[in-house]
Amino acid sequence: MALKKDVLRRDLDHNVMEPAKTEAKPATAKGQLSGAQTATKPQAADADSHPSGKPIIIDCESVDFHYGQSKALHGISLKVPEKQVTAFIGPSGCGKSTLLRCFNRMNDLVDNARVTSGEIRIQGVNINAPAVDVIELRKQVGMVFQKSNPFPKSIYENIAYGLRISGVRDRDTVDGAVEQSLRGAALWDEVKNRLHESALGLSGGQQQRLCIARAIAVKPSVILMDEPCSALDPIATAKVEELIFALKDQFTIVIVTHNMQQATRCSDFTAFFYLGHLIEVDRTEKLFTNPTQKQTEDYISGRFG
Ligand code: ADP
Repeated sequence: MALKKDVLRRDLDHNVMEPAKTEAKPATAKGQLSGAQTATKPQAADADSHPSGKPIIIDCESVDFHYGQSKALHGISLKVPEKQVTAFIGPSGCGKSTLLRCFNRMNDLVDNARVTSGEIRIQGVNINAPAVDVIELRKQVGMVFQKSNPFPKSIYENIAYGLRISGVRDRDTVDGAVEQSLRGAALWDEVKNRLHESALGLSGGQQQRLCIARAIAVKPSVILMDEPCSALDPIATAKVEELIFALKDQFTIVIVTHNMQQATRCSDFTAFFYLGHLIEVDRTEKLFTNPTQKQTEDYISGRFG
């Protein structure tokens, strides 16, 4: 099924580059994820209903998803806690990326692909409701892709460009935001003396951390990561994993990984998917040492997948 490429490009630009406006817009029903949130479902009300003790930020209820006639997700019910790392594991083709892409409606860019039943709420808002502004959603729910995708611009411009096109003109403000984002992505010390050199001259691991810096520059609530280390060597992978662990102080992270060791190293909760079904979700340590479901046990012990 073909992606609508021009739409994808435009939306990716919005997704990764366009920063949250510094001035709050009036909270109207249209497109204001956070405005709608307080009106419909205070987060504190969820605090006790997740084992982490954290509020639930993403709440999927009985979600079915189809690509045309083909059903890729079957009745997924999953609660993602705020400021924790949740890993999606499972064999290839079991729906991990599909579900991840539902969270910022990236699947809208695929013809005939849609949530056909159930509801996904983020901060209490049904993100598939007609009033939701998808651009606003993607500011709140950023994404880092499998293959790093810096723009062919300087390191500085990779972050500053997005700030400027959304109206941040003050040089000191932009400088401050660039530094803060690069520090947040544990990249500042490595690049501070070459900010105006091309981002394409960075190593693969540095480029991926630059993409993370670009994502956090717009201050999202959630960062989705789709196999962010699969193209990296072990040292670069370790740095990104350390970063993921550190970022959860400020952001909710959902990561798809085919690497079970990675899930054990950097996630708090793990969800195991198989053939479009969520088989089991639990604290990472529990899921890997004492899973409840036989299919989970078979998978983590290498019997299939
Ligand atoms: P995973 O991330 O676990 O590898 P995916 O979410 O990519 O799995 O895929 C789940 C199912 O959806 C697979 O059967 C896959 O072939 C199908 N699928 C994924 N993307 C598309 C698409 N763009 N068009 C049609 N089917 C797709």
